[in-house]
Amino acid sequence: MQDDRPSLGSGSGYARDKHCAANRKMARIAKETGKEPPREKDAETGDRIHQWLAGRELDLDSEEAETGHVLKNRLQDIENEFLAGRHGVVTKEHRFWIYKGLSAIRSSKPDYVLVVNEPNGADILIIDHKTGHADIDPEEADTWAQLEEYALTVALNTQHPGGIKRVRVVINSRWSGVLVRDFPPEYLIAIHRELLATIAAGSIADPKATPGWYCRYCAGRLVCPSASMEIELVERRTAYPLPEGKDGEVFIDQVKRVSSLCDLVIKYYKKRLSDDPGCLGIWRIGEGDEYRSITDLEGAFVALVSDGHITQDEFMECCDGHIGKLEKKYCNRAGKPAVQAKKEFNNLLAPVIELKRKAGSLEKAKELL
Ligand code: SF4
Repeated sequence: MQDDRPSLGSGSGYARDKHCAANRKMARIAKETGKEPPREKDAETGDRIHQWLAGRELDLDSEEAETGHVLKNRLQDIENEFLAGRHGVVTKEHRFWIYKGLSAIRSSKPDYVLVVNEPNGADILIIDHKTGHADIDPEEADTWAQLEEYALTVALNTQHPGGIKRVRVVINSRWSGVLVRDFPPEYLIAIHRELLATIAAGSIADPKATPGWYCRYCAGRLVCPSASMEIELVERRTAYPLPEGKDGEVFIDQVKRVSSLCDLVIKYYKKRLSDDPGCLGIWRIGEGDEYRSITDLEGAFVALVSDGHITQDEFMECCDGHIGKLEKKYCNRAGKPAVQAKKEFNNLLAPVIELKRKAGSLEKAKELL
């Protein structure tokens, strides 16, 4: 997607901007030196669905189309409920700017904005579509940071003699459903104050880098000294005995960040090698392991069962039903809220499924945070 903002911060990175003052600077350096991390496949899929939702004609694959239709149907319901018979003006994927004097200092491009001009002020609806699978926690402050900046930006760009009555922000998530917050004018003023403080912290010559969960999404992570310092730090501390207690708690955070950074470094090199084979001495991209995959399950069934060596029951024993894919299809066809459709799906299959648990991964106990 073409980037039409000249290195300014935007709502999509506001949560990270609040936590780490250095991230805009690092992102700028990465861009100038050509060391931006390669894009994730999920981000490209998300872009395509967003463009389709904004009205562009695109050939989506079947999974993208399913997600697109679910979000579009929900969008219609959210819009109808907000309008309640009123009329308003809609903009989709339009970039709004915040200025300081005559200079633009931030910009944001919300997926969907609806402004209803009431006699006593503007009533605004902003919707952000989320296509990813990650669970969204409405109680987590970072969840709303992006929409807070969108709300402020749109409010500052809306002219009405009565001012702004309210901004309703909605997260329309494919997998976490619809999350809603209403921001009154006083709240927008508080957001403005906080945004200006965040911009000021990131505008000094040597802003402070504070690593955290958001490093994973930072465009400057391949050039960030704090991120690379963590690699050295982890390297130095991996000798036994490993730290425990409070030190161990901090150390695991660092190990997890370093591990995702190392994955990224490998991805970066793979991309470099595919663009320029030979740029890394004797390293090259291997062929990858071959594996067989049945493209016609029914055809395989007929061939093996009629051959006589495999019975119907034996064939079925070897078929792993992909429960996640079946659930997705069921939910899309059910035409009901995702939570309700999932519940029905699980009730329907209760007699024929069993719940298994994989080995647990390292996670933080919420009540201790
Ligand atoms: S990688 Fe992390 S610490 Fe470094 S600038 Fe980005 S967000 Fe900040």
